[in-house]
Amino acid sequence: MYIDSNGKKWFKGNLHTHTTVSDGILSPQEVCKLYKDNGYDFIALTDHWKYGEQTEFDGMLVLSGCEYNLNNGVKKGFHHILGVGTEHFPDNISEASSPEEVIEAIHACGGLVVYGHPAWSLNTFDQLLQVKDADTVEIFNSVSDVPRNCRPDSSLLLDIMAANDVFWTIVATDDAHFYEKADTCRSFIYVQAEECTRGAILEAIKKGNCYASQGPTLSAKFEDNKLTVDCSPVEQIVYFGDSPWSNHRSDVGENLTHGEYVPHYRNEAFKDTFVRAEIQDKNGRRAWTQYFKVNR
Ligand SMILES: [Zn+2]
Ligand SMILES: [Zn+2]
Repeated sequence: MYIDSNGKKWFKGNLHTHTTVSDGILSPQEVCKLYKDNGYDFIALTDHWKYGEQTEFDGMLVLSGCEYNLNNGVKKGFHHILGVGTEHFPDNISEASSPEEVIEAIHACGGLVVYGHPAWSLNTFDQLLQVKDADTVEIFNSVSDVPRNCRPDSSLLLDIMAANDVFWTIVATDDAHFYEKADTCRSFIYVQAEECTRGAILEAIKKGNCYASQGPTLSAKFEDNKLTVDCSPVEQIVYFGDSPWSNHRSDVGENLTHGEYVPHYRNEAFKDTFVRAEIQDKNGRRAWTQYFKVNR
């Protein structure tokens, strides 16, 4: 947890983690200790189709969780859907369920829906439309990076969806299985909430009061037709929108702590209808703002 310059608390958490209960190599106790020792305020244990109960580990909140993976192949769709903070195992779902049914069942028992790793799944536009009711989507999934799956970054797919008016709150997670450098305590979210309880954390994420990071901290706003980013020192601030062209898509330098972007508008074909930013520090660690709609 850190406190920002306005006195607001930001809690650090990982929403996607595996243990020996499914195909992870560490026990639930070992996983909890690892994340606690690395300064996390909350995690969720999300084993495949095995429900992890809510608990607490040495002061760290352990949210209930489970990954309901529907492995229908690339053409019909891999849909890996996480339910976090549900009151119980969702009713009447199985590996034969549709993604819509799984999402509805998670919501019916009070859970947050996190849609996992669309790039790893090679999801198509139509497959992602099926999960538009998910609360959040992973823009970065650590275990999908080198050396294993090598497709960790779903930002292009999410930009295509945003350009077509489908927006989610974005998160980053580890999806830790192997507990190696690449997938352990690397990609997480900071959540702005008064307290680190199930209710406060889920409500804040559902409202989008969070951002994804691998280390850098940021605050971002879109006001008066301008995206403003203030952050810990970084070497790149990159601005994304859906105009094919913009004169100013990045700031690059040393110890950058502020950036601004005005959505591009040339004509109806060349205009940004959304904006967001990614920052990267000198160690290659990134953080992502949420998506902002441009009202024009
Ligand atoms: Zn998965
Ligand atoms: Zn997973």
